[in-house]
Amino acid sequence: MDGFILDEKRVQSCIDNYKRIKEDVAQTAIKAGRSVDDVRLMCVTKTVEPEYINPVLDLGADLIGENRVQEYCSKLDTLHLDGVEKHIIGHLQTNKVKYIAGRVDMIESVDSLKLAKEISKEFKKADATANVLVEVNIGREESKSGCDIDELEELLYQISELDRIKVKGLMTIPPICDELQARKYFALMNEKFLELREKKIDGVEMQTLSMGMSADYEAAILEGSNIVRVGSAIFGARKYF
Ligand SMILES: *Cc1c(COP(=O)(O)O)cnc(C)c1O
Repeated sequence: MDGFILDEKRVQSCIDNYKRIKEDVAQTAIKAGRSVDDVRLMCVTKTVEPEYINPVLDLGADLIGENRVQEYCSKLDTLHLDGVEKHIIGHLQTNKVKYIAGRVDMIESVDSLKLAKEISKEFKKADATANVLVEVNIGREESKSGCDIDELEELLYQISELDRIKVKGLMTIPPICDELQARKYFALMNEKFLELREKKIDGVEMQTLSMGMSADYEAAILEGSNIVRVGSAIFGARKYF
């Protein structure tokens, strides 16, 4: 990379942050009366150079999330990904699906039938099956992607009809708000998650509820999250290029 200078202090702080948050996630799971293994910590690596990600992966981090397809693909060769699960968590354009077909363990940001159909088509071509979460716009924000909660069940049924794509749960990003308010959104999300799980829709496995980020992962765990997606609290504030 042009003019890249490794910041050793930053490497150390990524390592320290990861260890601290890993422990905090475990403690919060226990506080919530859940098993430690029930909540996974995802390292969100968008905009972070591999030089800062690899030391964290070497500690045993086993789940990463990236937002952009191009960045994801360009990092695959340089990251230490043995035994690491890779998720796409950002808004996905249909014309980018072909680049990740068969090269990703989960797509967490499926929010329309159109996108699901494209995933089905491209993963079939790659002779693979896509595991996906349906992203829910829990705060009904105009500016945000995600399926409306009232249309969620219908979308699950529609996706369940498609070949080579399997729904494994739900993902959400609540509106920017304080932790107390966020917790209410997480509780609402969990309620919907459990309700849909009870329905036992054919071909839909409601296993994973991905919610909670740097600022609110504890609240999310207390409300039933089983993947928390943490970026800046591990790697520091993001710089966009
Ligand atoms: C960037 C991002 C995160 C991580 O955000 P932080 O606040 O830095 O922890 C989590 N989920 C999604 C979908 C993201 O885009």
